[in-house]
Amino acid sequence: MNGYYVLGLHGAPGCGKGYLGEATRATLIEQGIVPNEEILYISTGELIRKEIELKTEVGLQIKRIVESGKLVPDQIVDQLVANALLADAKVKILDGYPRNLHQLEFLKKQLEGKKLQYLTVFRDTDVELILRRVKNRRICKNCGRTHSVEDGKCPACGGESIVRKDDAVIEDRLREYQENTAPLWPLMDQLGATLRIDGSIEAKDAAKQIVQLFF
Ligand code: AMP
Repeated sequence: MNGYYVLGLHGAPGCGKGYLGEATRATLIEQGIVPNEEILYISTGELIRKEIELKTEVGLQIKRIVESGKLVPDQIVDQLVANALLADAKVKILDGYPRNLHQLEFLKKQLEGKKLQYLTVFRDTDVELILRRVKNRRICKNCGRTHSVEDGKCPACGGESIVRKDDAVIEDRLREYQENTAPLWPLMDQLGATLRIDGSIEAKDAAKQIVQLFF
């Protein structure tokens, strides 16, 4: 592996990008390709939920927008992403960004300016499966990690599991996705190599495909 990489995870809300990112991290470590400390997981959704939970100025401003399933203003998310991309980690897994044309252009500039190579993964998932997954999805009240209702408590830190407020408006989020984000798919090739993965494939197996192709 030469240089610094951003692995962009794409797909509709609820398609399992979070699980896929975690499985990819685990596979990279297991196979001795990248050590844990050189992998940074950047989820714009998690960063945004953190701002809301901490009741920062930004958090208070965007709480309602997020709960309604709409997109947060670009300048806010751009700043969060630009800061996260400064981290000195060889592989940055980027989940939830870009979500519209402006963000795609912003990301392109960030990649050029910071000399980062971009790898694109699409998780192609049908809507029925998404609705089923979201119904079973919980987040940790303590660390914000996404997991399944079947886990009981958070598998990462043992924190309390709660339903994400915006999961109640999943249909609105899917509509938002179709309008703003899905049209980016044909343009993502401009950023770098692309891999499409069927959403019904287990995260572990999908992660193996990613690592085999890209690393
Ligand atoms: P996610 O966890 O990625 O589904 O994101 C949860 C919510 O955070 C979204 O429904 C948006 O309100 C907001 N959000 C996350 N990423 C972005 C983004 N790139 N642009 C605008 N809003 C975002």
